[in-house]
Amino acid sequence: MSARFQVSGVPAFNDNYIWVLHDGRHAAVVDPGEGFPVQRFLKENGLALAAILITHHHGDHVGGVEELLQAQSRPVPVYGPRSEAIAGVTRPVGEPATVALPELDATFRILDVPGHTAGHIAYFGHGALFCGDTLFACGCGRLFEGTPDQMAASLDKLAALPENTAVYCAHEYTLSNIAFAKAVEPDNLQLRERAADAAETRRRGLPTVPSTIGLELRTNPFLRCREPSVVRAVVSQTGTQPTDRVAVFAALRQWKNTF
Ligand code: ZN
Ligand code: FE
Repeated sequence: MSARFQVSGVPAFNDNYIWVLHDGRHAAVVDPGEGFPVQRFLKENGLALAAILITHHHGDHVGGVEELLQAQSRPVPVYGPRSEAIAGVTRPVGEPATVALPELDATFRILDVPGHTAGHIAYFGHGALFCGDTLFACGCGRLFEGTPDQMAASLDKLAALPENTAVYCAHEYTLSNIAFAKAVEPDNLQLRERAADAAETRRRGLPTVPSTIGLELRTNPFLRCREPSVVRAVVSQTGTQPTDRVAVFAALRQWKNTF
């Protein structure tokens, strides 16, 4: 099914992106941590808000929901993870639900991706993935509520999506993620290439997001826990042999926390 929306990033706070799907008339907003910049974007582009999509309960993803709702003349459906209590959510969803946005001719599949938070969900459809703080460009979210087991399984689920899927994560963390990835895999040529590209993109003041699942598979260490190069790096960093892929992932996440 071909949707007719395009996606724009509205910057918020220091490094958040609020993604706005729009077709010239209607818009859906993903993770509005702030209301004001979204309202301004809608107004400037003559867009009517048709839906709000929430990935998880953190303030930098939900802080603008109430303000946005109050600014609308009609009620707007707010989708969010069914297992997290979030003010304003009217359509709690989880796997295997789909979310239909008729105004945008769009339908998204819900993916349960626990790890960063216990109920974190992602929205997948029309070649696009909105994954909040689960998968980042060349990195992944911190484990605030979930186990390494859960997060590794969530990342596996996202890694299995088509390689040309556009990955819209919620933060511009790419350069620092790449610095860590290079420490893990200094000899990964595609990673070096990505590092140069991302540095240039940021020098020009542009977002490095979205990336693609294919690029993440080739360069994101957290999706590469079975690669001998990544296992070797973990062995030399920790001095112990990880027992399985989840142990590699857990060690990488731990290492990144103090990098
Ligand atoms: Zn978060
Ligand atoms: Fe966040």
